[in-house]
Amino acid sequence: MSDLISREALLDYIDSTNEIKDWCLNRYSADWIYSFVKSAPAVDAAPVVHGRWERKRSNVYCTACGKGYRITNGGPNVMTFVYCPMCGARMDGKEDGADHE
Ligand SMILES: [Zn+2]
Repeated sequence: MSDLISREALLDYIDSTNEIKDWCLNRYSADWIYSFVKSAPAVDAAPVVHGRWERKRSNVYCTACGKGYRITNGGPNVMTFVYCPMCGARMDGKEDGADHE
């Protein structure tokens, strides 16, 4: 399985880590390293948005987008949905904004 890294974070990491920077600069120019990292291929990735379901009276709301769903007898129980059907937020209860996966 492939994982993803942030191009910006990699450049920051190279900048902030003298050991890596020294190793690289002994072999390549800084311009070459930056252009290599900047030209590396990217994949389509969307940030993971976290949310949770909040029930207010006869409605359930997504905390990420605010979309509300009416609770009806015989209808699907939205609170069991792992993702919000409207915005795709992952309903794992975290509210720390978005991260990448
Ligand atoms: Zn939502």
